[in-house]
Amino acid sequence: MQVPRSILMALLPALILAGTAADAAPPGAASAADMRDIPAEAVDRAGLLPVDVAMLTNPGFRWQHLQTEHFIVHYERKTFATRVARMGEDFYKAISEDLPDMQDRLGAQRSHIFIFRTPRDWQTVLANNPGAGPWAVSFVRGQTMYLQESGAGQADKMGLLAHEMTHLVFNRFLTVRLPLWLNEGLAEYYGEFAYRRSKGLTHRERKVFTPLRQRMPLEVLLTATAYPVEPAAVDLFYATAKQMVGFLVWKLPRDKWNIYFNRILAGDPPLAALLETYEWEDINAAEKAFHQFNR
Ligand SMILES: [Zn+2]
Repeated sequence: MQVPRSILMALLPALILAGTAADAAPPGAASAADMRDIPAEAVDRAGLLPVDVAMLTNPGFRWQHLQTEHFIVHYERKTFATRVARMGEDFYKAISEDLPDMQDRLGAQRSHIFIFRTPRDWQTVLANNPGAGPWAVSFVRGQTMYLQESGAGQADKMGLLAHEMTHLVFNRFLTVRLPLWLNEGLAEYYGEFAYRRSKGLTHRERKVFTPLRQRMPLEVLLTATAYPVEPAAVDLFYATAKQMVGFLVWKLPRDKWNIYFNRILAGDPPLAALLETYEWEDINAAEKAFHQFNR
């Protein structure tokens, strides 16, 4: 859930590219009309954890609340909050259209996004959330995103937001815990493509999924239950996870992906479901096919 700073570098070239492409449509046009500021007493706290409520009522922050159909953004500076709220609805649309079999299990309940303006504010967040590593620059927990506004460059910031927004949207639909690699691979994949779509840009899978020569062995990736410790291994983990999701979603037949993802949602054992759906005898056969994709 938490993105170390280093992995953002992988997203940068793509986002910069996206910024220069043509055929832009007005992003968030449909959802903007539903966006409005609401008073603190109107904020629905269902789905918030006690630690989230403590942040919401922390007298050190002068929260204002921007509400859309699926999100409430708690903010102190409106310009960025508006962009975040629009992106949330754009991502919701892109992801739910792409995975039509998924059901939003939260219904009318909204996801929450807290935006922190200064590094000092962020230190308050980390102090109150010992579970987040000191290197965390933003994170999603359950139905709430903690987002740092300052510190990163523009492309950096939007890439990070896109990744976390994907987690936040997926968490509305998931009833099971995804395997770590799939959770992060999907956040990387949709973080990039939903962002492009929200900007009215065409997909460029061919450019994104060029051969990835340096990879984590699939055996390690697919069975990981914790993030790697070494920063270089963390980069490799995210890059390989994204590439594997690209391989499954984009390169291999889409109907197989749909079958596989539905089996995951149904709670089937992830690795067995993967090998069976794609008719790979074992993990080595999967590695061999993945290697072909990366030649
Ligand atoms: Zn993540």
